[in-house]
Amino acid sequence: MTELASRERTRTADNALRARAARVIPNGMYGHLSARLLPADYPQFYDRGRGARVWDVDGNEYVDLMCSFGPMILGYAHAGVEQAAAAQREHGDTLSGPGGVMVELAELLTSRVEHADWAMFAKNGTDATSLCLATARAATGRDGVVMARGAYHGWAAWSNLRPIGMPAQDRANVYTYTYNDLASVQRAVDEAGAGNVAAVFVSPFRHDAGHDQELVDPAFARGLRALCDSIGAALVMDEVRAGFRLHHGGSWEPLGVRPDLSAWSKAIANGHPIGAALGSEAYRAAAGQIFATGSFWYQAVPMAASVATITALRDENAIAAMEKAGQQLRDGIARQSAEHQVAVLQTGPVQMPNLSFPGDENFAKASLFCGTAAAHGALLHPRHNWFLSAAHTSDDIDQALAATDEAFRAVRGQFGPDESKDGTR
Ligand code: PMP
Repeated sequence: MTELASRERTRTADNALRARAARVIPNGMYGHLSARLLPADYPQFYDRGRGARVWDVDGNEYVDLMCSFGPMILGYAHAGVEQAAAAQREHGDTLSGPGGVMVELAELLTSRVEHADWAMFAKNGTDATSLCLATARAATGRDGVVMARGAYHGWAAWSNLRPIGMPAQDRANVYTYTYNDLASVQRAVDEAGAGNVAAVFVSPFRHDAGHDQELVDPAFARGLRALCDSIGAALVMDEVRAGFRLHHGGSWEPLGVRPDLSAWSKAIANGHPIGAALGSEAYRAAAGQIFATGSFWYQAVPMAASVATITALRDENAIAAMEKAGQQLRDGIARQSAEHQVAVLQTGPVQMPNLSFPGDENFAKASLFCGTAAAHGALLHPRHNWFLSAAHTSDDIDQALAATDEAFRAVRGQFGPDESKDGTR
């Protein structure tokens, strides 16, 4: 066991903050970062991050394989990004108009992302997908939106998976299909009426929380493009989660399939708050017609951070680094699965891995596994894909694997060995 995996962990400061939070924050915390959704071994509050490591408020250190659920792609406190942000902050951030860096960022994104001829900026992924949807509706004069069942495109009513406090009317015009099943897209389009569909949303691969991940079938991607062309609807790629982790020019570039509109956020500024909607020429006029704005949408610091991030991603070969670290993790987990005779399913691209246990009712094994890993210094998630960053070194992965070794031991101890000798189904 490594030193990190064996270190004694306390929760004094975290528990004190949780008690205070319970009085002034609904349920003590809300949204996807609520520790109530996680095993008891997770902290709720964090103090700092450096490279691929984070420290909670009690000073416990973790190898972070959640990367703040995606934004951290070059490592926490990346020097180039933080210098660019600091230099811009010296000049100003939220001024009475945008900085010149906004144009620089739009130029960079439209030169890097192949389908894009223009860019609009906002604060987060929900803004970006909402901008895409409004643009598609303005361009087509139609209301219908077709999206994959179970996919998440933000907390807005049309894609909210738990739409409490949102009237059913706000979800009218939404039609769903099954990812990778073109016939089901056609059925959704027929249900909507082909002449009513403004946009077909898709993610680069199926990365719904709580499910094994599914890479895109190239024939599905091509079929979706052809279908959108035939009905005059916008193909909208939601790059919020996967953007720049798979390809610098857009996630479906290797397939030769380009969307009309794409939504970006999480990783494009290495943790600084910004979202972007990108579009092709045909949608420029419609984007110019919609009214969309926000008090903080023009912040110059995140834009400077984004320019530095996107530049560094390619200059520092970030995708190759994430793939290397991700492969090391996948191979190590496969080895441990066989050694402990605990069957697992590893799905998704190695740089956005997902781990599940076949037949794992209510995520009981996954929760024990991830809770044990957290107690031994590795942050994973039992129901959501994990993320690699370019800052994860071979040593970081070894440390994470020391924690997962303990986690496998715990699962085997509580649930017993699986029958298959090689630890896979
Ligand atoms: N789309 C996808 C694919 C996402 O993963 C997310 C966030 N998890 C969003 C949209 C919404 O982004 P945000 O939380 O920044 O609004």
